[in-house]
Amino acid sequence: MITVDEALSHLFSLADPQGTECVPLAKSVGRVLATAAKATRNQPPFSASAMDGYAVAGTAEKGAQYNVIGESAAGTGYNDSVRSGQAIRIFTGAPVPEGCDTVVIQEDVTCIGDQITVTGDHRGSNIRPAGGDFKIGQTLTTPRLLSANDIALLASMNIPTIEVFRKPDVALISTGNELVMPGETPGPDQIIASNTFGLKALLESHGAKVRILPIARDNVASLEQVFDLAADADLIVTIGGASVGDHDLVGKVAQQKGMEQSFYKIAMRPGKPLMAGRMGDAMMVGLPGNPVSAMVCGHVFLIPVIQAMLGLGNNKRQSLSAVLANSIGANGPREHYMRAVVQNGQLTVFEKQDSSLLTVLADANALLIRPVNGVALTAGAQIQYLPI
Ligand code: AMP
Ligand code: MG
Repeated sequence: MITVDEALSHLFSLADPQGTECVPLAKSVGRVLATAAKATRNQPPFSASAMDGYAVAGTAEKGAQYNVIGESAAGTGYNDSVRSGQAIRIFTGAPVPEGCDTVVIQEDVTCIGDQITVTGDHRGSNIRPAGGDFKIGQTLTTPRLLSANDIALLASMNIPTIEVFRKPDVALISTGNELVMPGETPGPDQIIASNTFGLKALLESHGAKVRILPIARDNVASLEQVFDLAADADLIVTIGGASVGDHDLVGKVAQQKGMEQSFYKIAMRPGKPLMAGRMGDAMMVGLPGNPVSAMVCGHVFLIPVIQAMLGLGNNKRQSLSAVLANSIGANGPREHYMRAVVQNGQLTVFEKQDSSLLTVLADANALLIRPVNGVALTAGAQIQYLPI
C-alpha cells in the first residue's frame, strides 16, 4: 500500500491542465485566468474628488474665503481653469479642475450666495490622483482563481472577456445492484445512491463540470456500457465495487477497457481501496463505495486533481492547526481522517467514525489528520486538520 502523499503524486502525474476558452466577465467567477489580463487605462483616469465639497487652489486654511464660479460633477467636469480665491462646487468622483489642489468637504464650509468660508480644521487634499488605483499595463497574472473582487477589478480595467482554463469534464459513476436514484422507490434490499450527488456538489464547487451517469450494476456488461458513456470525459470517477468482494468488478472491467493502473490501495482510513490510472484520453479514479470514504477521498484527492486540471498547479490541500478538545487513542498503520468540529480554535473529534455515517459527516466541518502510527493524544495537544 502506498501513502496518501505518494497517491497524490501519482494522481498529479495523471492530471493534465485542460485547454483554454474565452468567457464573458459576467460568467467568470471561480474560473482560472489562463492569459494575463492587462489594464489599458488608468483608474481613475483623472484626478478625482474623494468627497462632496469645494475644490480650491492651495491648502484651504481655516477662515479662507472663496468665490464659487462653477461646478464639477461625476461624468461632467469643469473645464476652465481656476484662479486663486475661486472655488468649484465638486462632488465625489468628479474631475478636479486644473489649478485646484484641495477639496474642502462641504461640512467644513459655510456658504452665503456664491461665497464660501472655510470653518473647520480642514485636513488632507481629498483628491484621488490619476492612476492611483491602477495604471496602464498593470497585470493580473496567471494562474489566478478569479474571485468576485478580481472580477470587479477586471471590469474596472475595461476587460469584458477573459481567457480561462476549460472546466474539466467529470463523469461520475455509481456502481451497485443495491442502488437507486434519489426520488425513486427503493426495493426492500435497496438504498439510495448518495455519493454521486455529494461528489457532484463538491467538484462543481471547485470548478469542474460534472455529470452523473446511470448507475452501473455489478456485472461486466453494465459496467462496460456505462464506461462507454464516459469515454469522452477528462476524468472518470467510479464509486464502489473497488474492494475484493465477489461483486467488486470495477478494477477488472476498467482494465479490460484499457485502463493502465497507476496504483491500487492506499494506507488511509477511510479510503483504502482507492485506485487510479489512465483510460484512453481520460484519467480514471476508482473511489471506495462507503459514503464517507467516497466524500473524504473527494476532499483529500479529487479537489487537488481538479485544481491541477484547472491549471492551478499540483498542490496538496493545506491543513490548519487547532487544539484538541478531547483525548484520542493511538493511530495504526494508515493515515486516519477523522470527522470533527472546529470552533474557536478547539477541535472536537466525533465518537462515531464508521465510514457509512453521513450524518456524522454532515455535522463535521473538519477532518482531523492522524499520522501513521500517531501516538495517543490528550486534550490540549496541537493537531492538524483539513477544513471541509
Ligand atoms: P462497495 O465498495 O461497492 O462494496 O460499497 C461499499 C458500501 O458503500 C456498500 O454498503 C454500498 O451499498 C455503499 N455504496 C456504494 N456506492 C454507493 C453510492 N453511490 N451511494 C451510497 N452508498 C453506496
Ligand atoms: Mg458495490
